[in-house]
Amino acid sequence: MPGVKRDDLVVRDGSGLTCAAGGLTIDPWRGVETAVITHGHSDHARRGSGLYIATEASAPILRHRLGREIRLRTVDYGEPIDFGPVRVSLHPAGHLLGSAQVRVEHRDEVWVVTGDYKRDPDPTCAPFEVVTCDVLISECTFGLPIYRWPDARLEFDEVNAWWRACREMGRTAVLSVYSLGKAQRVLASVDACIGPIGVHGAVDPLCRVYREAGVKLPEWVKVSPDSAKQLKGCGLVLAPPSALGTAWVKRLAPVSAAAASGWMRVRGRRRREGLDRGFVISDHADWPGLLRTFEETGARRIGLTHGSTGSLERYLRGIGKEAFSIDTRYVGEGGDEIEAKGEGGLNEVVS
Ligand SMILES: [Zn+2]
Repeated sequence: MPGVKRDDLVVRDGSGLTCAAGGLTIDPWRGVETAVITHGHSDHARRGSGLYIATEASAPILRHRLGREIRLRTVDYGEPIDFGPVRVSLHPAGHLLGSAQVRVEHRDEVWVVTGDYKRDPDPTCAPFEVVTCDVLISECTFGLPIYRWPDARLEFDEVNAWWRACREMGRTAVLSVYSLGKAQRVLASVDACIGPIGVHGAVDPLCRVYREAGVKLPEWVKVSPDSAKQLKGCGLVLAPPSALGTAWVKRLAPVSAAAASGWMRVRGRRRREGLDRGFVISDHADWPGLLRTFEETGARRIGLTHGSTGSLERYLRGIGKEAFSIDTRYVGEGGDEIEAKGEGGLNEVVS
C-alpha cells in the first residue's frame, strides 16, 4: 500500500485496520480476537470477533445488531485501556449515539482512527472531539469540494415546511433515512407539533434504544395496518431507503417521498431516485469539515479511507501535506448513507 511505512503503528491487513503491537483490529470486516468498534453501522460493526471493545453508549446498539451473546467490554469516552505496550482510548465522533474515534498510543507516537464523524451539532449524540495526534486516519465519504452542508437547522426547517405542505395536500410525508443514527436525529429535530410521526419496523427498535439511553425523542408509532390509518394524509413517516417503492408504502398512499442524505447535494440524484424532495442532512463531515479536522488535530501524516480517497490525497499533497490512501473492502458509494436492501436493513454494502 503506497504511503504506508514498515513500522507503522496501524496498518491495513486482511482483517482491516490492525495494530499488531496491541493485538487489535479497528472495525474488522472478519472475525478477529480483539475488535475495537467505532460505531454500530453495519460496515463498521460485524459479527464473529472474540472480544469487542466499544463505548458504553454503543453497547445496546451493538447487542441489537450483533446479538446479545457477544463478548463486549465497554469504556467511557477518554477512559484508557492498555493492550500490552499500547494504550487505547475512545473519543466522541459526533456521528451517532456512542460513536467514537480510536486513539492509539505506543511509545511516543499517537495515531487516531476517526471512524465516521461529523462536525455539525446533533442532539442525539456527544459532539466530535478534536484529538491531537501524529497520524490521523480519517474517513472521507464526502471528500470532494462540492460537498458543503447547509446549516442543519435551516434544512430541518425545510423538512418541517415540506411536512406541513404535505399535510395541507392530504399526503403522507415519507422520508427516507438510514435506520440507525439519521432516523433518530431527524426524529429529535423535527417539529413534532405538525402531526403524528410513524417509523418503519427497522427504525422502531433503534429509536427505543436511543430513548432508553436517555436521548429525548418525541412520541412515534410503528407503522402497522392500524397505525397507517392515523398517519395517512397527515403524518411524517421515517423509513429506510429499501422500503421506498415497495408495497409497504402503498398503505400510506397518497405519499410525497423525500430523502435526508448528504447525497442530496448532488444535482439530479433526487430525480433519479424518484423523490419529490431531497434534504441535505448528513452524519458525515463535509469538505470544509474534513480539512478543518486535519488542521486542528495537528497530524503530520493523514491516511484516507472510505470515500473519495484519491482526489483528497492529491489535494492534500498539493498543499504540502503528507497523505496516503487506505483501500477498504467496502466500495458502496454511500458508505452507511445508503442502506442496502434486506431485512431490517442489516445487509452490508460490500464489494
Ligand atoms: Zn457510520
